[in-house]
Parts: sequence; C-alpha cells; structure tokens
Amino acid sequence: MDAAVTTRTKVTAIAGDGIGPEVMRATQRILAAAGATIEWEDAEAGAEVFRKGIPTGAPQETLDSIGRTGIALKGPLETPVGFGEKSANVTLRKFFEMYGNIRPVRELPGIRTPFSGRGIDMVIVRENVEDLYAGIEHMQTPGVAQCLKLISEAGCERILRLTYALAIAEGRTKVACATKANIMKMTEGLLKRVFERISPEYPGITPSHLIVDNCAHQLVIAPEQFDVLVMTNMNGDILSDLAAGLVGGLGVAPSANIGDKAAMFEAVHGSAPQIAGKGLANPTALLLSAVMMLRHIGDFAAAEKVEQAVLVTLEEGRNLTGDIAPKGQGVGTDAYVDQVIANLGRRSATVPAREYRRLDLPAWPEATHHLSPATRELAGVDVFIESGLESAALGDSLAALTDGSAFTLQSLGNRGAQVWPPSGGQTYLVDHFRGRFLLKSPPKDDAMAEIADLLQRIGRQHVWMHVEKLQRFDGKDAFAKAQGEG
Ligand code: NAP
Repeated sequence: MDAAVTTRTKVTAIAGDGIGPEVMRATQRILAAAGATIEWEDAEAGAEVFRKGIPTGAPQETLDSIGRTGIALKGPLETPVGFGEKSANVTLRKFFEMYGNIRPVRELPGIRTPFSGRGIDMVIVRENVEDLYAGIEHMQTPGVAQCLKLISEAGCERILRLTYALAIAEGRTKVACATKANIMKMTEGLLKRVFERISPEYPGITPSHLIVDNCAHQLVIAPEQFDVLVMTNMNGDILSDLAAGLVGGLGVAPSANIGDKAAMFEAVHGSAPQIAGKGLANPTALLLSAVMMLRHIGDFAAAEKVEQAVLVTLEEGRNLTGDIAPKGQGVGTDAYVDQVIANLGRRSATVPAREYRRLDLPAWPEATHHLSPATRELAGVDVFIESGLESAALGDSLAALTDGSAFTLQSLGNRGAQVWPPSGGQTYLVDHFRGRFLLKSPPKDDAMAEIADLLQRIGRQHVWMHVEKLQRFDGKDAFAKAQGEG
C-alpha cells in the first residue's frame, strides 16, 4: 500500500477519558482531511466502564472490536478511585500481548527546550508485558512486600527482534541496549545475553550495550548520540518519560504498543482532567500516534502528509494550543486543527525527511515456549522464613532442625545480605529471612520427599512463606549468590 491506497482499513477508536474525546475528534478530522482511508469502529474503555461495574475497565465488545480490526487508536484512560484493581491500559496491552512499546523522541520545530538544536531523534523501545509489571506481588510478611521480576528468553528475543525490525523500517543504524545486568545478572542479564546473541544477524546496524543508570546520564548529557534504545519494562517506563521531557514533554509524545495480532496507538499523556471539556487540549501527541498507526497499516502517503503538516504548523508557530504557544498567544483545539488542515500538502523546511518501510516482524510459534536443558540437577532450596529472632538464634535453630535431614543450612540472608554465618556486615534485620539449604548429596530422584521433610521440620518451629528450588541447568548454577556469600 502507499499513495494508491483504496481499501478502507478498520480501526477501533477508543476516545477515552478527560481530554480524550476532544483529541480523538481532532485527530479524526485531520486524518479525514488528509485522505486517510480509515473506517472507525467506536469502542469504550476507562472510567465510565469501571463505573458500570466492569472491573477490567474494557468491556468485551471493545476486546472483540480490537480482536477484529487488529488496530486501535486510543485516548487516555483513567482508573477512578475505588474502582478496579488494574488499569484498563494494562488490561488492553496484556490481553493482546502487545509486547513492544515504541516511543519516538524527536526534537520538534518551534518547541523550545533546553535541548533545542541538539538534533535529538531517537526511538525508545520498551518491553511492555514482562518484568516487574507481571503484577505478581505478595506481602510475604505483614511488613515485607515482594514483586517478582519475570524476564523470559522468548520475551527478550521478541522485543529485540522488534527493535531491529523497527531500526530497519526507519533506516536507523545504531541499536543500544540498556540494562542493569551488572546487578541483576539473571533477569536484566538475559536481555543483554540475547542482545549479544542475535545482534550479529543484523550486520548493517551497530549494536552497543550500556548500563541503564549510565544511559539515564547519557540521555541528559548527550541525547543526540542515541538512534534506537531498547530496555526492559520498568527501565523503559522511566527513561522514556525522561526522554519525552528532553523534547517538549508528554503533551507532544506519541507511542505505539505492538503485538503479533494487534497494535494500539496512543498519546503518552493522561486525561488532563483540569482542561477536559474546555476545548484547550493539544491533540499533537495523539495525532503523531495516528501517524505511527498509518505507517503501521501501510498508508505511508497519508502518514507523511499529516506529519509534515504538523511540523510546518509547529515551525511557523501560528495557532498553537496554549501548552506550546508563546505565553498569551494560545488558541483552542479547533483553531489548531484548522491550521494543521490548512497546512496539509506543505513540507517542513527544517526537519530532515526519513524514509519509512513497513515493520517486518518475525512470526512466533503458537506453542508454549519451552527450553529443555541437557542436564538438570537440584542443588538445594531457598526457604523464606518470617521470624523476629536475631540472626544467630535463627541460624542456629535452623541448622539444628536440619540434623538428620537431606539438607544442610549453608547460609541465612536478610534482604540479600548474608547474616549467618555472620559476615561482619551491619545489616539492619527485618523479619524476612532466606535460608539457603543445600543437599548433602545429589538426590536419587527429584527430592520432593526430602523437601517436604525439610519444610515440615522448619514449620514445626518457624513460619515459612515461600520455597524456591536451587537448580543447575547444563551444569550452571541457576540462582544468584547472596551478598557476602563466597
Ligand atoms: P496528564 O493527564 O498527562 O496531565 C498532566 C498535565 O499535563 C495536565 O494537567 C496538562 O497541564 C498537561 N497536558 C497533558 N496532556 C495535554 C494535552 N494533550 N494538551 C495540553 N496539556 C496537556 O497526567 P496526570 O494528571 O498525571 O493524569 C491524569 C489521569 O490520566 C490519571 O487518571 C492517569 O491515571 C491517567 N493517565 C492515563 C494514561 C493513558 O491512558 N495512557 C497515561 C497517563 C495518565 P496543565 O494542567 O498545565 O494544562
């Protein structure tokens, strides 16, 4: 598809809350004026849906619509206080396994920031469904909370291949992967390892790895060095907002959520309730999200036309909304939309053109992703114990309890620091200990009976809340050592 698009593409339109309906109407007007061949299917999600008693914030009809069209343009959604445990945004992203969040970060003409003139033009790709956002949280003791950080090899490969596909589609030449692999060697380290494994398959693109805290620093001191950046979910969440701030803030920041079967395009900003219904909202972020959507469906001509009209409007600085206009010169949403429509067909004088191609994503097998190691051994178990005892008393008690069992107590940790045998550290104790119990000799079978015996022994005198097997895959330890553990 391109200049000669004739068939209409169905797109689910979710206007959303607050300023959502205003920026959605504005975007739809401009797309229609640009000749985009879209047939909108209106659908609901957000605050009103929660108030109707639908706890996900997204009714079945909306899920069905996205399931049918495979494409959604979405306004901001609110979770009203007292309704629903989860955000409707997260529900939609997870339901359709939209694993890639794409956020272009580009200096826009006429939007002055302390970084203007540096030529910032990058895309941040954030893994969107794994990591600490898997939503697996527990209060393990009344005073200690846990959130599981889940990272899968398949998830890493998928987000990295999307990143490379995006770099190719946009003619970009560098991909930087930012992780915290120096501290979280298994989880963050997995993204780094998969990055190192697959990068040689993309010879036209220069790969690099950097530690994510340095990435935050580099984003502020030399943001123009980045072309494409890829990160795990939480790191990407934080740094993509930081990066949006470099080029004018959330009001102009677009985004895409990409999955194998569905993609959803949305502004980064929220529902801005303070200005909702006043005709003041800036629709640029949703409009630029719609430009990403047009490219995704292959309507490159309409995408280019709308994007150029926005760039010209910003460049000339006439009829801008209050959030980006010089003080006292802001106009309402409608006047801004009229100006963008008037500029359709014109080209920016300052922003270099970029050639876009369609995103070419690999197909993923439907079957559960399962890796079988050649060998698998059990080394022991970590048992997490709630106790108000001092570490020496608890360690001695647990060590005595293992007498006659298949395990020996190797160490006791408190929030990751070894406290028994004493390491000389000054750990402040909370009532959440990890006992590391190693098997005295390799088990004959899967050691289930031995583990059950150990838990019974511990349970007679203490409260345990969680057990984790210590495994070795292909002869390699599949568990991290405690701080201070030899
Ligand atoms: P926000 O809605 O982004 O608004 C923060 C401020 O940014 C607004 O008060 C407004 O500033 C300005 N702003 C944002 N978008 C604008 C636009 N298009 N045009 C002009 N000004 C704009 O952030 P929030 O107040 O933290 O969140 C409000 C609600 O939105 C919350 O319920 C939140 O959960 C939800 N939210 C949803 C999404 C999503 O659906 N993806 C994302 C973020 C937040 P002034 O007040 O100075 O005019």
